[in-house]
Amino acid sequence: MKPLLIVMSAPSGAGKSTLCDLLLQEFPEISYSVSCTTRAPRGEEEDGQDYFFLSPAEFDRYVAEGRLLEHATVHGNRYGTPAAPVREAFAEGQSVLMDIDVAGAEQVRRYVATLPEDDPLRQGFVDIFIEPPDMEELRRRLEGRGEDSPETIALRLGNAQGEMSRAGEYRYRVVNDDLQMAYRRLRDIVLNASGLL
Ligand code: 5GP
Repeated sequence: MKPLLIVMSAPSGAGKSTLCDLLLQEFPEISYSVSCTTRAPRGEEEDGQDYFFLSPAEFDRYVAEGRLLEHATVHGNRYGTPAAPVREAFAEGQSVLMDIDVAGAEQVRRYVATLPEDDPLRQGFVDIFIEPPDMEELRRRLEGRGEDSPETIALRLGNAQGEMSRAGEYRYRVVNDDLQMAYRRLRDIVLNASGLL
């Protein structure tokens, strides 16, 4: 498999995490980029596995030291991608999956465009936007998962509109109306990009 730098974005509740998990299960050669965040752990989330949970001061230090490939504030918390694991994975010929927001994706897209055309990171760059069927369904899903407070849900729904308006910046868009069908489309995009289809 040609190494890919897969960037996936979606409004919260579009089913992106489930689609990412399915992709990682099927393709062990894709490593998940664990982000840093200043938000508190949710549910069963573990430090170092789901996120690196940092204090705002630690996050500032990471930014100042240039350790993040991109970073952005999302829903009032800060998130960023550690650069070293992405570079290491590529050096070993492994693909990387990044689950990041639209602002972060824009930074990665810009960064990749500055690289020489034959750079593997540039050649393997694939950006995908996952869309919910509509806003009502998004609300139902956010309320249904019972993880977030009504305030958080309202904030995430408010932000969803802005995120959806930027879907056109992505090379690929997948509507998650039916999980199995959405996964099949996602899988085809990845197989195509890696030269296996
Ligand atoms: P959550 O708090 O629900 O895990 O994630 C909220 C949002 O932050 C999601 O849209 C997710 O894609 C985004 N996010 C997670 N990690 C990063 C990151 O490292 N950088 C950026 N820019 N966004 C991220």
